[in-house]
Amino acid sequence: MKIPRISERRGVPASPGIAIGPAYVLRRERLVIPEYRIVKEQVGSEVKRLERAFRDTHERLEAIREGMKDTGLVADIFDAQFLFLKDPTLLQHAIHNIRSENLNAEWALQRELRRLETLFESMSDAYIRERSSDVAFVVRRVLQSLMGREPEGLRNAPIGVIVVAEDLSTAELAQLTKGHVLAVVTEGGSRTSHVTIVARSLEIPAVVGVPDLIHTITDGSMLIVDGHAGCVIDDAEEATIAEFEKRRSYIEALDRQLLRYADLPAETRDGVRIKTLANIEQPLEIPHALEYGAEGIGLYRTEFLFMNRTELPDEEEQVAAYRDILRGIAPYSAVIRTLDLGGDKLPLGVRTGEEANPALGLRGVRMSMGRPGIFKVQLRALLRASVAGNLKILLPMVSSPNEVDFTRKALAEVREDLERAGEPIAENIELGIMIETPAAALIADILAPRVDFISIGTNDLLQYTLAVDRGNEHVSYLYEPLHPANLRLIQRVCQAGRRAGIEVGMCGEMAGDPLHCWILTALGVGELSMASFSIPLLKKILRESTAAEARELLAEIMRLSSAAEIREHVEEHMLRRFPAEFEGMLPTR
Ligand code: PEP
Ligand code: MG
Repeated sequence: MKIPRISERRGVPASPGIAIGPAYVLRRERLVIPEYRIVKEQVGSEVKRLERAFRDTHERLEAIREGMKDTGLVADIFDAQFLFLKDPTLLQHAIHNIRSENLNAEWALQRELRRLETLFESMSDAYIRERSSDVAFVVRRVLQSLMGREPEGLRNAPIGVIVVAEDLSTAELAQLTKGHVLAVVTEGGSRTSHVTIVARSLEIPAVVGVPDLIHTITDGSMLIVDGHAGCVIDDAEEATIAEFEKRRSYIEALDRQLLRYADLPAETRDGVRIKTLANIEQPLEIPHALEYGAEGIGLYRTEFLFMNRTELPDEEEQVAAYRDILRGIAPYSAVIRTLDLGGDKLPLGVRTGEEANPALGLRGVRMSMGRPGIFKVQLRALLRASVAGNLKILLPMVSSPNEVDFTRKALAEVREDLERAGEPIAENIELGIMIETPAAALIADILAPRVDFISIGTNDLLQYTLAVDRGNEHVSYLYEPLHPANLRLIQRVCQAGRRAGIEVGMCGEMAGDPLHCWILTALGVGELSMASFSIPLLKKILRESTAAEARELLAEIMRLSSAAEIREHVEEHMLRRFPAEFEGMLPTR
């Protein structure tokens, strides 16, 4: 099926599914902030007015948060906004503006917001930039309270619309329900933003990071949102709508059929068995992972537990979170990755000096070694939780064997302390490393004998190998998993894993693309960890293939010299072999 791709806008495919419906453009009312100077005698009452507005906002948000508890969905990520409300500095700086310059409360608060926005803008990491929208949201709510305005929301949206917004706050996300809202499209957001996580959990199609949306899309215009391909089509013609309706029924039918494969093993006809695992960010994703046929959690990114808050999660909170994961997925195993923080991706409780190149700086295991206190609390929590299931620990951003040795030593010390205190700990907890740097891939033969398993993180491995910032749209055309350099590195890592007798898996995005599954199988990647909904299709394709034909394809592409030739060859081959699965699914390049 060929899809006409006129007037389409591209973004990040955040949550799969196709929706066709009228746009509901969430335009924020432009708050005209009154700016005037007050007389000295008014200072006290103006400060009180501001404090009252903060309290009122707090109560209102608390009420929304309470309501969300029943859904068990986004209560955690709601904390980001509370953080700014509760953090006394926002209020104190605004009060300082009132006292020192006699500004009215609205102006004083607005000025503090501008200062914080400038600060956030200078940071390049997505996590931190998203905090900017949290503080802006909070300030807007306080301003609305000061000015006696009702906050806008999604509650008034008619049923069956596609929500188009600059960004959605967590309070708005809490008002999203499947069936009410057909899809979500936002200008902001990324693969890891709140809107992505919530849309995926609710199974609402979503495309985020689409430039120039809200000023160019009119309310009620017919939109097509393709959450698989990450595109949005505005004012589509009837023919295009008809094509996408066909594509939607086709994908839905495929999904229904595919669910039949969820409980079957991913095994080729000639007996090569691949383990399919799920990547998760939150424990609440586990039921989905199981429904789609995950045979364990291949990557739990613990960063989510640490972001959006002023204080770090203490040991008890971490034990509870890790236990939830381990219990939820048992008897399968869960790979829990130690903190991959660093550079700009820092929780407010961790401070390091400025770094000119955060991606090449103190991140992942380097940060853990630089902050052994934080690292040890995490290791203690992991060991204490270990008896709840089958735990595997994964280290991010490894580039040298010292990092593994350091971690082994820290683990032994933590274990000894806990055992002395009579704490039960599982006997065999595997320790693995991520291969995310070319250095780690090139010395995989040195690293492999020191660890129990390897997981290739292609998101970073590609960025560092190809010198392409994974978040930079100007060079995204170079970000190609089928680049021969990447394939050679994966091959090398698999060989090292085989020699050391350990499992080599992959948890980068490359693992979930069905186009790559033959290549990865032939290279010897034995475990593929991905977003849960990708699992059934992968299982189907592998069950209808032989490892022998996959090896043949690999031999053919290893003779080719460019990423473009390899992609073309693989696409052609897979399309010929699985026309029903790939037709209309391959992005036009
Ligand atoms: C990776 O780099 O491939 C990976 C899985 O880690 P993250 O996307 O969290 O950096
Ligand atoms: Mg990574």
